Amino acid sequence: MSDCVFCKIVDGQIPSAKVQEDGLTLAFMDIGQVNPGHVLVAVKAHVENIFGLDDKLAAAVFQTAARVARAVQKAYAPEGVTLYQANGSAAGQTVYHFHLHIVPRYDQDGMQLAWPVKNPPREQLEANAAKLRAALE
Ligand code: AMP
Ligand code: ZN
Repeated sequence: MSDCVFCKIVDGQIPSAKVQEDGLTLAFMDIGQVNPGHVLVAVKAHVENIFGLDDKLAAAVFQTAARVARAVQKAYAPEGVTLYQANGSAAGQTVYHFHLHIVPRYDQDGMQLAWPVKNPPREQLEANAAKLRAALE
C-alpha cells in the first residue's frame, strides 16, 4: 500500500534496523524503543490487523515472534518480556499494518496497561464462552 509506513519499510523505501526476515515476516527495531531491544514483527503483505491473517500468516508471525523473543532474552537479559499487539484505535493501534511488539521489561520501567478486572460470576463466563464458540469459524 503506497502510503503505508511499514509497506515502505518492507520495500526498502525507508530505512529500518532489521533483526530477522523470512518470506512472510520482517522483524525490525521499533523507532520509539520503549526499552532497548524493543522489536516489531510485521507481516510483509499489507494486512491491516489480526482479522486479515490467514492461518499460515498467523503461524509465521508467532514463529518469528518466539524466535526474536529468545534473542531479546539472550541479548538483553531483561527481567521480563511483554508481547503487545493492537487492532483498531480503541486498542491503541497507530500504524494500520499488522505488527506485534516484543518489549523487554524491567520493574518500574513505566510501561503501563490498565487491567480493570470485573470478576463476573461463573454463569457470565459460561455465557461469554458460548457466544464465542458460536462465532468460531
Ligand atoms: P502501534 O501503536 O501498535 O500501532 O505501534 C506502532 C509502532 O510503530 C510505534 O511503537 C512506533 O514507534 C512504531 N513506528 C512508527 N514508525 C516507525 C518506523 N518508521 N520505524 C520503526 N518503527 C516505527
Ligand atoms: Zn502496509
